[in-house]
Amino acid sequence: MIGQGTIRISEVGPRDGLQNEPTAISTAAKIAFLNALSQANFPEIEVTSFVRADRVAQLADAAAVMAGMTRAAGTVYSALVPNERGLDGALAAGAQKISVFVSASESFSQRNVNASIQECLDKLRPVVSRARAAKLPVRGYVSCIVKCPYDGLVSAQQVRDVCERLLELGVTELDLGDTIGAAVAQDMDRLLAVLASIAAPKEITLHLHNTSGRALEVAQRAIELGVVSFDSSAGGLGGCPFAPGSPGNVATEDMLELVARLGLATGVNAAQVRVATARLRHDMDNARAQR
Ligand code: MG
Repeated sequence: MIGQGTIRISEVGPRDGLQNEPTAISTAAKIAFLNALSQANFPEIEVTSFVRADRVAQLADAAAVMAGMTRAAGTVYSALVPNERGLDGALAAGAQKISVFVSASESFSQRNVNASIQECLDKLRPVVSRARAAKLPVRGYVSCIVKCPYDGLVSAQQVRDVCERLLELGVTELDLGDTIGAAVAQDMDRLLAVLASIAAPKEITLHLHNTSGRALEVAQRAIELGVVSFDSSAGGLGGCPFAPGSPGNVATEDMLELVARLGLATGVNAAQVRVATARLRHDMDNARAQR
């Protein structure tokens, strides 16, 4: 039996969705998408990523997007940063929250960012510390929480170790990503039990991918176990460009429907999310047609 409550949905489409979109989207179209999303009453929107343009060309206009969008008062606008230089950009752009990332799988870390997990954590130490000094909350993404595309299954202990080290760095939120959408519902029981010694389910955010079509059943099980915070992407936009075979962020529209079906609330306006998705699809179709 699920009690009365509210589920927190963070919209990550503008960052995690668009970074996987091969068609170049104009700055104006991104801003229009964000402005439409901003009218849907999300508690948080991850706007962009301050990464090197040669790494993710799609997000090279991060500063212009953040400067051009219209912010809603009740929404926190966050930005992903890989290093101190990215943090400089995010702070200058007025990000209200910083996201950093590390993998629970050594091979994924090596292939994704050409660095070991420890090297990533070492690089993030000053980033987290400076963000916290600027009084910003910091989300720590952990990828490959169930399975790695190179190493296979990832143990819950491995995930806990990385989470523990992120908490030691000072992150204020753990955001666990099923990067290749491999999780089944029972994985949540095991994972949350192992994590319980360092973080309660209600302190964890889940970032699910619907690659295998199971994201919603995994989310439902997680909610039953006490998880109240999820990421999703409007229209199911995007996956991970660095993880082969991992399309499919779970769609915000589907998460909102699931939560409503469970008799819980999000405060997010589902009709307005559909407006935002339709707007972006229209602009993407136009961009493709003009190529
Ligand atoms: Mg994702």
